[in-house]
Amino acid sequence: MDKQDTLPVVVIGAGPVGLAAAAHLLARGLEPLVLEAADDVAANVRDWGHVRVFSPWQFNIDKEARRLLEAEGWQAPNPKALPTGAEIVEQYLRPLSRVPSIAKALRLGHRVTAITRLSQDKVKTAGREATPFLLRVLAGGKETELLASAVLDASGTWATPNPLGANGLPAIGEREAAARIAYRIPDATGADRARYAGKHTAVVGAGHSAANTLLDLARLAEEVPGTRLSWVVRSGDLDRAFGGGEADGLAARGALGTALRRLQESGRLELMNGFAVARVEQTGGKLALVAGDGRRLEGVDEVVALTGQRPDLSPTRELRLRLDPWLECTEALGPLIDPNLHSCGTVRPHGATELAHPEPGFFTVGIKSYGRAPTFLMATGYEQVRSVAAYLAGDLEAAREVRLELPETGVCNSRPSPVAKAKGCCG
Ligand SMILES: Cc1cc2nc3c(=O)[nH]c(=O)nc-3n(C[C@H](O)[C@H](O)[C@H](O)COP(=O)(O)OP(=O)(O)OC[C@H]3O[C@@H](n4cnc5c(N)ncnc54)[C@H](O)[C@@H]3O)c2cc1C
Repeated sequence: MDKQDTLPVVVIGAGPVGLAAAAHLLARGLEPLVLEAADDVAANVRDWGHVRVFSPWQFNIDKEARRLLEAEGWQAPNPKALPTGAEIVEQYLRPLSRVPSIAKALRLGHRVTAITRLSQDKVKTAGREATPFLLRVLAGGKETELLASAVLDASGTWATPNPLGANGLPAIGEREAAARIAYRIPDATGADRARYAGKHTAVVGAGHSAANTLLDLARLAEEVPGTRLSWVVRSGDLDRAFGGGEADGLAARGALGTALRRLQESGRLELMNGFAVARVEQTGGKLALVAGDGRRLEGVDEVVALTGQRPDLSPTRELRLRLDPWLECTEALGPLIDPNLHSCGTVRPHGATELAHPEPGFFTVGIKSYGRAPTFLMATGYEQVRSVAAYLAGDLEAAREVRLELPETGVCNSRPSPVAKAKGCCG
C-alpha cells in the first residue's frame, strides 16, 4: 500500500460545507479529518446567528449529512421554514458534528496556518503528486504538523472582510477609527442594542448583509428616539441592492430587497449613493466618511462595514494554485460567478474538474471557492463536495456528473455579457 493511501483527507473548517465534505468522504470509504480553528463547530455561522437566512431548510441540508443524521433518529426541520444562523447550527450542524463517525473525525481548536508538501517546496516538481501534503496546525497554543493524502479547504471568508475603502485598501483613517467600525452584522435590536440605540450609524455596502442591518436598525429607530441611519453605497444604481422582488426564486431573498426599497422610499434613512469611501475622519467625538469626490457624511457615531469578504490566501502560499486574477476564486469558476458579468445567482453546475488546481489533491470548496464573488449558496457547496469526494474515491463519472439547480435572484446585471446570455444566464 502506498503511504498516501493510509493518510486522511484533511478538511479545513467545520462550517456547513466542511461538515458535509466529511459526510461525503465517509460515504466514499475515505477517512476524513476535519480541523476547525474555533472551539465549536460553525464559528462563522454562529457569528451571524441572529440573522434569518433566505433559503428554506430544503436547500440548507446536505443529502449525505441527512442520511447520517436520519440513521441516528434525527428529524429534519420543516423544509419550507426559514431558519436563523443559530437554528442552522443547533438543529442541523451540531447534531451532525455529534454523529459518531463525524465526531471521531473532528478536531476543534485546530487552526491550519500553512499547507505544503512533505519536504517539498512550491518549486519542486519531481514526485510531487505522490508526496503527502503537510499541514502546519496551531492547537492548544502549540504548532504541530499533520500529513494528508488530499486537502479540502472549506475555511470560508467571513474572518477576512473587505475594508471600507472603495478602492480595496483600508480608507485613510480607517484603522485609527477601528473601535467604532464593525465588520459584521450587528444584532442591533438584541445583544448589540446598547451600541446602536440613539446613535447615528452609517451602514456601508449593498448586499444582503447591509439590507438586514439597515432593516434591523430601522426597527431600533422606531423604539429608541434619536437613532439615525445612513446607507452608504458605492454604486449609483440601486436596482441590484433592491433585488428581483417577486421574480426571485427564493421568496425571502426577494422580500428582503423589497423591504429595503420601501425603507429607502419612506425617507427613514439617509441615502448616500455613488459614494466611494476614501477617508474616515474623527472630529469632535464623531466620525465623518469622506468620498473620493469630496462629498461628506458627517456626525457618524458608528460604522457598519459590510463590503464583502476576500479569501485568506496566506496559508496556501506554498501550493501551486491557479486563481481568477480579480475574484481570487478557482480560475475556472471566475467567468461563471463574476459580479461584473452577472448577478442572477445561478452558476453552471461545477465540481472536482472546475475546482481543481495545478496542485493535485488540493481543492478549495464552500464559500471560499467563490473568492471575492457574492451569491454563494450552501447548496452549491454541497454539490461541490459530493463531486470532489467522488473524484478522490476514483469515481470519475460521478465526479463529472454534477447536478445543481439554484433559485435565481430574479435580477440581472445592468450589463449582462453576451457570453452569460448565450449560456442562458442573465438572459
Ligand atoms: C449573513 C449571511 C447570510 C447567508 N444566508 C444564506 C442563505 O440564506 N442561504 C445560503 O445557502 N447561504 C447563505 N449564506 C452564504 C453561505 O452559505 C454561508 O456563508 C455558509 O456559512 C458558507 O459555508 P462554508 O462552510 O463554506 O464556510 P463557513 O460557514 O464560513 O465555515 C468556515 C469554517 O472554517 C473555520 N476556519 C476558518 N479558518 C480556519 C483555519 N485556518 N483552520 C481551521 N478552521 C478554519 C471557521 O471557524 C468556520 O467554522 C449566508 C452568508 C451570510 C454571511
